[in-house]
Amino acid sequence: MGQSRIEWTEQSWTVVVGCEPVSAGCAKCYMASMAARLERMGVEKYSGLSELREGRAILTGTVRFWQPSLLDPLRQKKPARWFLSSMGDIGHATITDDELDQLFAVMSRGAQHEFYVLSKRVDRIARYLRGEARADTIKANALRLPGEPGSGFPWPLPNVLIGTSVENQVNADLRHAGMACLARGGWRTMVSYEPALGPVDWSGWEFLSWLISGGETDHMHRRARPHHPAWHLASRGWAESPPAFPTHSSSMATGHRWTPSRQSICRQGRRSSALMLLPVRPMPLSTFARGKKAIS
Ligand code: SF4
Repeated sequence: MGQSRIEWTEQSWTVVVGCEPVSAGCAKCYMASMAARLERMGVEKYSGLSELREGRAILTGTVRFWQPSLLDPLRQKKPARWFLSSMGDIGHATITDDELDQLFAVMSRGAQHEFYVLSKRVDRIARYLRGEARADTIKANALRLPGEPGSGFPWPLPNVLIGTSVENQVNADLRHAGMACLARGGWRTMVSYEPALGPVDWSGWEFLSWLISGGETDHMHRRARPHHPAWHLASRGWAESPPAFPTHSSSMATGHRWTPSRQSICRQGRRSSALMLLPVRPMPLSTFARGKKAIS
């Protein structure tokens, strides 16, 4: 468990760690170097997840369900926004349905929290959640967890948003069916259009609750790939009202406030700027009352 540096969330639930690249957006995944650093610090959870090749940390493809972290959200009474998982992808094939049952059971018991589940393998998540038997299995798992079970078991879980990352039109098209399936099943859905590597036409994505839009960020001396304000503007234009605020506060600190006219943020090698959009179907979240600043 740890405080997240990602602006749209507060806590990182790293119960699934490790991954392997699945699409273009993964090319500069920060996770390999982060895991390498944590392994050097002696954190067992991250051992063997990455290896050095030509001086650069590369993911080994090892994926781990770290049982000691399973109950982290239930140890915290104070409501928070939890990101699952900033150090892996719960949709990875090596994560079993039984393990997913445990994750969703914890999310059902952690009703005071909001959970943001992000996977580039969203088809698998959609397949896993399909069917009524899944709710029964998860409820049975939830009842076995320590502590007093709450009253009722709403399904789909109202405190969970399921999302995917989309970097360009090709992957938007590939991941649309899984997301639409989840939305039809009653789940609230989100897309992280970050890192944006090409324009995306969002027609047909009207079921989304959230669209987060942003560029790649320089990380560990790896230069961010360029993105264009027009892509974000088009996304914001597609969405309804645009209460938006920037992510990547470091960009803000250096004065790179994103505006449609600031083309310089798209130069190759510059730290990217980004913005978050909350437009599609405004959620009943207190999110934006928690010190986040809107830009117009
Ligand atoms: S799916 Fe996510 S965690 Fe896995 S390699 Fe790609 S960016 Fe990294």
